[in-house]
Amino acid sequence: MVVRLGLAARSATIFWNCWRAGFEISLLTMKKLIIFDLDGTLAESKQPLTDEMALFLAKLLAHTRVAVISGGALSQFLKQVVSKLPVNANLAHLSLLPTSGAALYEFQHDDPSNPLGTSWKKIYEERLSEKEKDTIESAMTIAAKETGTIDFKAPSWGERIEYRGGQVTLSALGQEAPIALKKAWDPDHAKRHALQASLAERLSKFSVGIGGATSIDVTKKGIDKAYGIRKLCELLHLTESDALYIGDELGKGGNDEAVYKTEVATCVVENPADTLRTIKTLLTSA
Ligand SMILES: [Mg+2]
Repeated sequence: MVVRLGLAARSATIFWNCWRAGFEISLLTMKKLIIFDLDGTLAESKQPLTDEMALFLAKLLAHTRVAVISGGALSQFLKQVVSKLPVNANLAHLSLLPTSGAALYEFQHDDPSNPLGTSWKKIYEERLSEKEKDTIESAMTIAAKETGTIDFKAPSWGERIEYRGGQVTLSALGQEAPIALKKAWDPDHAKRHALQASLAERLSKFSVGIGGATSIDVTKKGIDKAYGIRKLCELLHLTESDALYIGDELGKGGNDEAVYKTEVATCVVENPADTLRTIKTLLTSA
């Protein structure tokens, strides 16, 4: 893991890559809010949390507030994260930010008006209209053809274009493609960068970002993980420096990069096993 101070302290930034060297990571201390990316951080792409991860996430929820922010829809968060948590997990401490921060959900007891039939209440959603969705979909089709990256006539694993309310996602191989194929599709990011550049040119009124290993996410202009984190801190009456963000794609062009626009401290992890070690370290400092 690599821990980095928030923006305000960045002039004195110290990079710590001490885990493998066996040193204590003194920068990694418990915060009032711990924010996680989902795929590649808490779980493998679109897979549920492991039992051990679910257990330690519940331990973290007993100590502090936790948020999960990722490109998936709310249903994906419920399936991958919430359904795996132990029954006694403190869900009142958990915030869910699907579609890269275009929406925020909080757990609410006894909310019969909730149309989802669950206890998760929508706090906001920067929803794309049907017309905007159509504009984005046709741009995606053209960009895929122009860049030669996706052949829409070839079979796919599920839908290639998915409308998730606040976001439209283009998945090169389809939403349900096997992880091994996803990882092998664009290891150097070249195809996604080509798609992103082509789409950004066509969709100047929207934000176009790299999503997962095979996907591009389009949201309203200015909607990204930084936006979601700012809205969440506002809601919780916390300053951004009260929060720590943990993600696997904080590098240039990665889908966590927008987080650097905020004041939150960051911690880069390599995979869910690294995240688990990070949570255990946080708990020892609590
Ligand atoms: Mg990730």
